Amino acid sequence: MSNHLSDRIKNMSTSATLAMAAKARELRNQGKDIIGLSLGEPDFNIPDFIKDAAKQAIDDNYSSYSPVDGYADLKQAISNKFKRDNNLDYGVQQIVVSTGAKQSLANVAMVMINKGDEVILPAPFWVSYSDIVKIAEGIPVQVPTSIDTDFKMTPEQLEKAITPKTKMLWFSSPCNPSGSVYSRAELEGLAKVLQKHPDIYVVSDEIYEHINFVGGHVSIAGIEGMYERTITVNGVSKAFAMTGWRIGYIGAAEWIAKGCTKFQGQVTSGANAIGQRATIAALEAPVSKIKHMIDEFHQRRDMLLELLGEIDGFKLNVPEGAFYVFPDISSFFGKTLNGTTIGNASDFALYLLENANVATVTGEAFGNPNCIRISYAASEKELREAVARIKSVV
Ligand code: PMP
Ligand code: GLU
Repeated sequence: MSNHLSDRIKNMSTSATLAMAAKARELRNQGKDIIGLSLGEPDFNIPDFIKDAAKQAIDDNYSSYSPVDGYADLKQAISNKFKRDNNLDYGVQQIVVSTGAKQSLANVAMVMINKGDEVILPAPFWVSYSDIVKIAEGIPVQVPTSIDTDFKMTPEQLEKAITPKTKMLWFSSPCNPSGSVYSRAELEGLAKVLQKHPDIYVVSDEIYEHINFVGGHVSIAGIEGMYERTITVNGVSKAFAMTGWRIGYIGAAEWIAKGCTKFQGQVTSGANAIGQRATIAALEAPVSKIKHMIDEFHQRRDMLLELLGEIDGFKLNVPEGAFYVFPDISSFFGKTLNGTTIGNASDFALYLLENANVATVTGEAFGNPNCIRISYAASEKELREAVARIKSVV
């Protein structure tokens, strides 16, 4: 009966990150010693003070539906967080809490995009942007960047990609998958172009904001002319290692927030109550409470860059945030390794999985066919072993 699925779902790709993680899990269940570096999922435990808040919420009987857009005190905590960390003024009526930042993004797409609207995605982009835009009947317009520009889109490239049909620009900084962080000057350059096009909206995905090794994070909403048209997306999955709790949120113009609440009211009724209560504790805590995780990611990045740098054919940028490296491995294309011909990045990722038992993700899923993504949300021991295995098969 699978041919009776809607065209919408038939035309959609499976999330490559989740698919690779599932494949790694399956191989592990078959007894293979797979090192999983495919999923962007912190390997730390949730800090105890957040767990305690969740346990308290259960005892306090937070068991009913919450308001669709989130508990009022959580939205206040988010409003305070936006002010404290980003110097952004989002009132509680401008905030919507959702089932992970992924749903926040899906809400925004459904609420903002009309059929045929173009959405500019500087590539590489996070794997789900393209399909979320397509579900909303928008047209993803990829703007390719390369390792030579640290995978960042220039103002000239943005200008060139804009057409009368452009509705939005979506990007993440720190970027998944490249780890690139846009500086204030770079964001101002993009904003300058957008100022000439007042009808273009921006989705600024800041979920890796705290996993940033260059000091300050800059929100594009704080740049002149950008506040009204920017939807700032964030969540607790990455900085607080709360991936499974599924809490994300947006700050945006009130009419956009209202649209997202209306949509969410029909599809999920809102995010889970216990996760919301725990998120209050997470966001009210000083950032120093998660510094140990950020320091650890920083050390692993340095180690991984050093180790991968020793492998011939791996070309690397220096990711300034998030927890991924995105090596350009195109020098292997056309070569035959242990009897396998490597035609593209997907072949290379599959080769590593089958020959080195290391799971990565092909760059094709992120709109860059020359690279693979390696997540370093894994222990130092696993990372060292993974690189040694990769080295031995290439
Ligand atoms: N945006 C980016 C750039 C991500 O890497 C992720 C990771 N899942 C998300 C959004 C979604 O995060 P979540 O739904 O877990 O909050
Ligand atoms: N954001 C993570 C990643 O890119 C989690 C997986 C997902 O949500 O797709 O690997």
